[in-house]
Amino acid sequence: MVDDRLIYSSSRKRSDRLESTADSAFALVTERAIEAKFTVWVASRDLDEVGESMFQGLRFERTELPAVAQNLRGEVREFLATEMPAEYQPNSDFNEGHHAEFSGKLGERGWIGMTWPKSVGGAERTFFERYVVTEELLAAGAPVSAHWIADRQSGPLLLRFGTEDQQSRYLPKIASGESFFSIGMSEPDTGSDLASVSTRADKVDGGWLVNGRKIWTTDAHRNHFIIALIRTEGTAENRHKGLSQLIIDLRGEGVTVRPIKNIAGGEDFNEVVFDDCFVADADVVGEPGNGWQQVTSELSYERSGPERFLSSFRVFVEFVRAVGTDPDDQSAALIGRLAAHFMTLRKMSISVAGMLQSGDNPAVEAALVKALGNDFEKELPELVRLAGPALGMNHPLRSALTQTILHSPAFTIRGGTREILLGVIARGLGLR
Ligand SMILES: Cc1cc2nc3c(=O)[nH]c(=O)nc-3n(C[C@H](O)[C@H](O)[C@H](O)COP(=O)(O)OP(=O)(O)OC[C@H]3O[C@@H](n4cnc5c(N)ncnc54)[C@H](O)[C@@H]3O)c2cc1C
Repeated sequence: MVDDRLIYSSSRKRSDRLESTADSAFALVTERAIEAKFTVWVASRDLDEVGESMFQGLRFERTELPAVAQNLRGEVREFLATEMPAEYQPNSDFNEGHHAEFSGKLGERGWIGMTWPKSVGGAERTFFERYVVTEELLAAGAPVSAHWIADRQSGPLLLRFGTEDQQSRYLPKIASGESFFSIGMSEPDTGSDLASVSTRADKVDGGWLVNGRKIWTTDAHRNHFIIALIRTEGTAENRHKGLSQLIIDLRGEGVTVRPIKNIAGGEDFNEVVFDDCFVADADVVGEPGNGWQQVTSELSYERSGPERFLSSFRVFVEFVRAVGTDPDDQSAALIGRLAAHFMTLRKMSISVAGMLQSGDNPAVEAALVKALGNDFEKELPELVRLAGPALGMNHPLRSALTQTILHSPAFTIRGGTREILLGVIARGLGLR
């Protein structure tokens, strides 16, 4: 999408402008196509080769945010004008900024668990309204990581697969912004190939004894619970069978959480070790052995939201501010180009929100939003760094760039690497 030659070329001036224009034009054409109800079809030649029955296509229906969602935008902005923590440096990366008090205030407003039933603390609002709230929070760079996983993933998982008891014990506190969750999927030898997890749980009276190790667990040192994918039957050779998800108290006995420093010097993710950790039967999500179906069903929620293309948005905002109202041609072209990409990705993401609202499972479309969005958000700070004006040490654009560039390698890894996503998209198109 964004041409590497533009990033690395040393004599950039004229060719920059040409490539930028072509790139923005591509983005706009794609946006128009989406507006006109865009369906990607593979050539009939390919259909013959792969067999028509495998072909699913990719659908991005034109989807407008309804008035009820648009009306919420002003309310969120007003809230942010008074409630944004004064000491916090805005950052649009959903993984940054763990602020329990701020999450509590969002919970009070009913902006966590927005689409869930009122009986479990939700607000019974639409995915579109949720979209507007998350988009506004990220664009403003608000600290959202404390409740993010619980709101986006753990809550919907418990709503779909959890027992009534689990729903009533966990969901109301997630929705009020008091209870925070981590995801325990990756292990030292298991990331992309998730079915090979080897952390295991053995059956004992009234529950399970868990032993093993999870890694890269975001915010486990600050959150309350982890939902861990664990082998409860057989061996790793059984692959998809015998996996279960267990809800585990991160501060309980038999759990050790060790933060891992990232390249920016921060501690966001962790190693989590289970050593004869007892988990009651009541904390196995749904039925034992149903873990694989559960984790794969979470993916559309995890992959399609605005957080998958807005992580570098603060760099864009500071760049526009830094070049002022009379930018040179090169800066103006870059701003146009980046804005065109934002608009296109946003349309695609809203379209997926529409499918979620209709109860569909747009896993392949969500993978496409994430793959394109992650590439874009990773390249944005690099393009701005090369094109940007000379900056003093304390310039806000410089700090936004430093922060974002150091975190950007993670954008195409977390939540599924780009290679895995391209495989999912290829399968959705019937090409493998
Ligand atoms: C900031 C951050 C936060 C994270 N938070 C969490 C978290 O909270 N919970 C959690 O469980 N995990 C978390 N992760 C882990 C993340 O999900 C994994 O790192 C990711 O799934 C990749 O797994 P891996 O590191 O084992 O790499 P591997 O799977 O070993 O992959 C290494 C490389 O090989 C490529 N590759 C692997 N398989 C294939 C294939 N079949 N075809 C083509 N290429 C392939 C990959 O694309 C990658 O480039 C986080 C990661 C980051 C960076």
